[in-house]
Amino acid sequence: MGTQIWPAIKLALRKIVGEAAFTNWINPLELTSMDGATAQFSAPTKFIGDWVARNYGDAIKIEFAKQGINIDRLNFATSAVNRAVKPTTAPKTERATTGSADLPGAALDPRFTFDNFVVGKPNELAHAAARRVAEGGDVSFNPLFLHGGVGLGKTHLMHAIAWEIKRRDPNARVLYLSAEQFMYRFVQALRFKDTISFKEMFRSVDVLMVDDVQFIAGKSSTQEEFFHTFNALIDQNKQVIISGDRAPVDMEHLEDRIKSRLQWGLVVDVHPTDYELRLGILQSKQEIQAGRNPSVEMSPGVLEFMAHRISSNVRVLEGALTRLYAFGSLVGRPITLEMAQESLSDILRATDRKVTIDEIIRKVTDHYGVNLTDMLSARRTRSIARPRQVAMFLAKKLTSKSLPEIGRRFGKRDHTTVIHAVKKIEELRSIDNQIANDIEVLRRMLEG
Ligand code: ADP
Ligand code: MG
Repeated sequence: MGTQIWPAIKLALRKIVGEAAFTNWINPLELTSMDGATAQFSAPTKFIGDWVARNYGDAIKIEFAKQGINIDRLNFATSAVNRAVKPTTAPKTERATTGSADLPGAALDPRFTFDNFVVGKPNELAHAAARRVAEGGDVSFNPLFLHGGVGLGKTHLMHAIAWEIKRRDPNARVLYLSAEQFMYRFVQALRFKDTISFKEMFRSVDVLMVDDVQFIAGKSSTQEEFFHTFNALIDQNKQVIISGDRAPVDMEHLEDRIKSRLQWGLVVDVHPTDYELRLGILQSKQEIQAGRNPSVEMSPGVLEFMAHRISSNVRVLEGALTRLYAFGSLVGRPITLEMAQESLSDILRATDRKVTIDEIIRKVTDHYGVNLTDMLSARRTRSIARPRQVAMFLAKKLTSKSLPEIGRRFGKRDHTTVIHAVKKIEELRSIDNQIANDIEVLRRMLEG
C-alpha cells in the first residue's frame, strides 16, 4: 500500500480534528513516502510540521492503523516548492532591515506614549508591567494580559509599549492590531486560500499585540487561529501582549484552554480611576490645551470639579476638557466653574453617580458615630455641628441638588447655612488633616 491512502486518512482526520484545524494543519500536508513503519510528509513550513507532530501525531498514527498500516514514526520535511512559490514572505535577512514596515498592523497613535501616561494607584501595576515588557530583556511576563473597563488606558499602554520597543530597536518587528482586524485578516486569508502566508506573517513578528480580544470570543475558527498563533509565538519566546474588557476567566464564549493559556503570563487589571488620578490626568492634558489656546484662562477649581464629577472614563474626561477650551476660545471668555457646569451639563448628567443626600447623611452619621435625629435637629454642639457641615459639604459636591434643597433636607435649614457649611469645611480641609482625611474616606465610600 502506498501514498494513495492519504486522501482517505485525511478525510477521517477531518472528522476528528474539525474543520478549522483541518484547513490549517492537515490539509496542507502531503504524504510523500512510506518506508516500513515511517511515514514521510512534506509540510509547507517547519512550524506546521512541528505543530502537527506534536498535536495530531497520535491521531494520524491511529488512522493509519485503522487502515491496517502500522506507522510508528512520522517525519516532516519542509516542501521547498511551496516556499519558492510564495513571494509574500520576505526572507529573514531582508526582514531584519525593514522593521515593521511590511506588517499589516494598525497605526500607532503618536500621543499614546509612556511620557504622556499619567500614573496613579489604579494603573500603577499595569504601567509597571507595560514598562517592563517594553524594556525587553528576559521575557518574564508572557503573555501580558491587560484588562479593564472602557477608556482606562489599555490601548494607550499598548501603543506606548510598541513605541518604546521601536525606539530601542528600530528593526524590531512589532505588530499591533485589534482583535477585529486579526479576524478580518484571517477571514480574508481563508477566502483567498492563503492561510499559509497569513500564518507565516504572524509568526514572523517579534512582538504581537492584540487589542480588545473579547471581540473574538465566540468566533470559533478565529479563536482557534488566534490560539495557534499565540502558542507558536510564545513557544518561540516572542512577546505577546493582549488586552480585553475583562479578565480571561470572566470571558464567556472563550474556550477554556485559551483562557488558561492566557493566564500563563501576567494578568493585570487597569482599575477605574480615582479622584487623584483623574486630577493628574486633567492637569497634564490641561497643559497641552493651554499651550494651544494661550488666550483662554481657566479659573481655579474647574479641574477639581471635573475630576469629582466625571468619573466614568478618561476619554470622556478628555473630551470634556477639549470642549471647555473650544468653548472658551470661541466665546472669548475664561473657563469658570459656572461655564463648565453649563457647557458640560450633558456629560455631568450622564455620569452623575446618583449619590443621594440620604446616602450621604447615612454614611456621615455612621462615620462620626452620631445619630440621625441629632444630625437633623437644631442642636449646635460641635460634635454634631461638624459632621452636619461635612454632610452638607458632600451634598453640595457630590449631588446636583441646589442649596435650598440641601438646606431643606438637613432639618429645614436655610440655604445660607449650607453656604456657610461648605465654606467652613473648605477652609478646614486645607488646615486640618483629620477633616481632609474624613472627607476623602467618605467621598470614596459614596463614589465607590
Ligand atoms: P481603553 O483602550 O482602555 O479603552 P484608551 O487607552 O483608548 O482606553 O484611553 C482613552 C483615552 O484616555 C486616550 O486618549 C488615552 O490617552 C487617555 N488616557 C487613559 N488613561 C490615561 C492616563 N493614565 N494618562 C493619560 N491619558 C490617559
Ligand atoms: Mg482600547
